[in-house]
Amino acid sequence: MPRIAVVPGDGIGAEVTREAVAVLRELDRDGELGLDLVEWDLGADRYLRTGLTITDEEMAELGSGYDAILLGALGDPRVPGNEHARDILLGMRFKLDLYVNLRPVRLLHPGGSPLKDVSPADIDMVIFRENTEGSYVGMGGVFKQGTPDEVAIEEDVNTRKGVERIVRAAYEHAGRTGRRLTLADKSNALRHSGQLWRRVFGEVGDEYPAVETGLMYIDALATDMVLRPGRYQVIVTSNLFGDIISDLAAGLAGGLGLAPSANLHPGRIGLFEPVHGSAPDIAGQGTANPVAAILTAALMLEHLGRTDTARRIEAAVEASIREGATTADLGGPLRTAEAGAWIRNALHK
Ligand code: ATP
Repeated sequence: MPRIAVVPGDGIGAEVTREAVAVLRELDRDGELGLDLVEWDLGADRYLRTGLTITDEEMAELGSGYDAILLGALGDPRVPGNEHARDILLGMRFKLDLYVNLRPVRLLHPGGSPLKDVSPADIDMVIFRENTEGSYVGMGGVFKQGTPDEVAIEEDVNTRKGVERIVRAAYEHAGRTGRRLTLADKSNALRHSGQLWRRVFGEVGDEYPAVETGLMYIDALATDMVLRPGRYQVIVTSNLFGDIISDLAAGLAGGLGLAPSANLHPGRIGLFEPVHGSAPDIAGQGTANPVAAILTAALMLEHLGRTDTARRIEAAVEASIREGATTADLGGPLRTAEAGAWIRNALHK
């Protein structure tokens, strides 16, 4: 029986995770799913109460005793530097070596995009963002801080091993799903790292001759994704570029309230979380959109091999959007709990 650590976390994270878990429990009423959901108390409340973010023992237990982590969001204004979020989230990403940040982006409803004249078939892509290297490793420093001569250096780390494993994961996915794979880089200006990515992309590609591929500079891709989103099906890119381009893609498909994500190390535990954060501006009001969290639960089920059940959740979510049974961010009249209940109901239709 798959064992899932549920980490509701902070702000709207807890509010939307409640709805995602309710969907899973609804599907599990007759034992169909057979999930063991274990709630973990990690987040700002515990940190403020005990001074603990996440212990080494807890991290080890997650890595060895669980199949997946379902996370809401971390971040709380009472912890000004959000050090608890850094320890927990980055700790999981790095210590569990979750090198794939997978961001599927799909338009669920014809009117759901800010672009005109696009249909769901035009926006259906999966972004493979490298999740453990690049500009986010924290290497660098400042010199002469606070003076007019201040210097800040942020290194961009790209290892052959790191590039190869994310590129391979993207090829695997593109090969399995029969979709076109695009590498996004900036190899015309960032030549050292860019050339490494291009060489590895070509070499790994030799092992996947059936996969159709394309190369794009990241700036050109940003424009083209807006003008011709239908050209993009699977995109592989670095940590920084992936961070930006996946938020752009989420915007094209209706915004943060709908975007799920996964952090994976194929063959090991996965961490599944909505793309949005804890949204302190609307926390506690009961107005957050639970759809991203519910689609995150579906993504988790897909990775646990429960594809049919994942599709059932997605169909219920699509129905809610089609019928206008949504929260205010999508123009609907419902509150978080009402939107969750509507989707649970639609599971049985
Ligand atoms: P973090 O730093 O944790 O990412 P943030 O507030 O900077 O937090 P988000 O939490 O992603 O970023 O929120 C960005 C904006 O989108 C906020 O105005 C928030 O209210 C809105 N938002 C995010 N998620 C949702 C949601 N599920 N439903 C409705 N609005 C949302």
